[in-house]
Amino acid sequence: MIIALYPGSFDPITNGHIDIATRASKLFDKIIIGIFSTPDKRLTFSLEERVDLATRAVAHLSNIEVMPYDIITVDFARQVNAQVLVRGLRMSADYEREFEMGMLNRKLYPELELVCFMASQEYQFLSSSLMKEVASLGGNIDSLVPKHVAEALRNKGVGKE
Ligand code: ADP
Repeated sequence: MIIALYPGSFDPITNGHIDIATRASKLFDKIIIGIFSTPDKRLTFSLEERVDLATRAVAHLSNIEVMPYDIITVDFARQVNAQVLVRGLRMSADYEREFEMGMLNRKLYPELELVCFMASQEYQFLSSSLMKEVASLGGNIDSLVPKHVAEALRNKGVGKE
């Protein structure tokens, strides 16, 4: 059984993340969406909220589980017996960082194989931060996030009623 860990801050989960998780779920037996507790960025949602929003977003996919974590990603991968680390690559922006992190992770956990999925064309320019910026300026984010995520953003005062 191949378990794949898809880690990130997911603040909040977007359709771009869901696309990667869905595609990965067809390839591997089990996907764990790992939500890192304290990423080096200003967060909109608490860890509990990010876990709840992601859990609801993938509830229809039976082999995807959402779990929070607060240790380094490779150690969490070991803890959950993941053999694969899944990441998404958007245009050139993500490449250098993923390459750097991938090399470091390989040193720390050589058996963990990195599998990068190319972002789908419609989500190439979608990031949680850009989406929040669009929402805060009153833009329509209906095609970028699930309904319950748009609602959670409105409840935070991000986006129009
Ligand atoms: P991080 O804080 O590690 O950058 P994110 O929550 O922003 O985590 O994203 C998690 C993973 O999902 C990363 O590999 C990121 O490149 C990928 N990702 C984010 N947005 C998209 C998207 N629109 N399409 C494909 N992959 C994406």
